[in-house]
Amino acid sequence: MPHLMNTYNRLPVAFSHGDGSWVTDTDGKIYLDALSGLAVSSLGHNHPELVAAIAAQAGRLLHTSNLYRMPQQELLADKLAAISGMDEVFFCNSGCEANEAAIKLARFYGHKNGVENPSVVVMEKAFHGRTLATLSATGNRKAQAGFEPLVSGFVRVQYNDVAAIRAIAERCHSVTAVMIEVVQGEGGIHVADADYLSCLRKLCDEHAWLLICDEVQCGLGRTGKWFGYQQAGILPDIVTLAKGLAGGVPIGACLAGGAAAGLFGPGNHGSTFGGNPLATTAALTVLDVIEKKNLLANAQTVGDRIRANLAEALADIEGVVEIRGLGLMIGVELDTPCGELVTRALDAGLLINVTAEKVIRLLPPLNFSTDEADQLAQRLARLIRDFLAAKGTRA
Ligand SMILES: *Cc1c(COP(=O)(O)O)cnc(C)c1O
Repeated sequence: MPHLMNTYNRLPVAFSHGDGSWVTDTDGKIYLDALSGLAVSSLGHNHPELVAAIAAQAGRLLHTSNLYRMPQQELLADKLAAISGMDEVFFCNSGCEANEAAIKLARFYGHKNGVENPSVVVMEKAFHGRTLATLSATGNRKAQAGFEPLVSGFVRVQYNDVAAIRAIAERCHSVTAVMIEVVQGEGGIHVADADYLSCLRKLCDEHAWLLICDEVQCGLGRTGKWFGYQQAGILPDIVTLAKGLAGGVPIGACLAGGAAAGLFGPGNHGSTFGGNPLATTAALTVLDVIEKKNLLANAQTVGDRIRANLAEALADIEGVVEIRGLGLMIGVELDTPCGELVTRALDAGLLINVTAEKVIRLLPPLNFSTDEADQLAQRLARLIRDFLAAKGTRA
């Protein structure tokens, strides 16, 4: 790949087609997809309704411009507002763009309220994207190294630590927002405590801060509810979305409600491709299928089943530190770096991911069946056992 910029360690495999939770590589080998292209293919591969909707829209109009009204975009905004509790939506094309919009909103809100240098509280181990502002918000020094000067205006605290946020409220008067993933994805599948989120909501209310939930990975049904924050019964002021929203067609969205709504006017923000007819048609179809097929409930029950099966199959294995997550966002933490498991799984016909060095990450399609769940748990448990046993002999 001499002409590809070297930004990814690519596995030596390419896929030619897919069907549901299964993909076939260019040599004809079939894999069970427990990753969904990192939480993107929320309906699996080649979903008939999604394919038909995209094809029909492609045959009418791909793109017009935000200089004109787009009915599909307006319908999608209505739908997202209804399921999220937010009031309005800005459309873009990716997660980092959705977060850029959120950060700009937080700053704009600050300036409107007389805060000269507004700052946003962000979390250790957070992942918000790779653009300069979202990289600066990301809590990963390795990812930031070499790209200094970073964007200023971020204050970092420990995740799930109420005292740390209280301390910030005391000493830092420039804060205008708190930004958090309800379940940290890249950081290793860490779930925010419901108490912590309620406390955050209260602190934000007390100090007139905006609460921003980055739901790019954990949103849109993955945790068993439309949005992760609904697990804790709170309502943020800003919600960012991307990954699974259009089932594989690039799209991003920044939703705003309450004090965060009505801030931007024409000229404050924009996107050439954002909310185009193709992407918004795809997203409308994805949301429709999630609803019609009860995929929120499916994510919950199938996710619980995978975790329970893994817990049972790995109960006597010492190297397994914790099995955690919500719905179909699952992490299995080992006591040793396990990146090697990705290639072992690939050889065994299974697509998984390892993040934060020691955490096996599973993000299967929302329509994963119970049979597929059982196959996944069984095959993964065997891979983990073999891997840890091989480590043991070597040590
Ligand atoms: C993937 C991800 C992003 C970045 O999304 P891109 O589409 O890659 O820019 C932001 N936040 C979270 C929580 C993510 O998982």
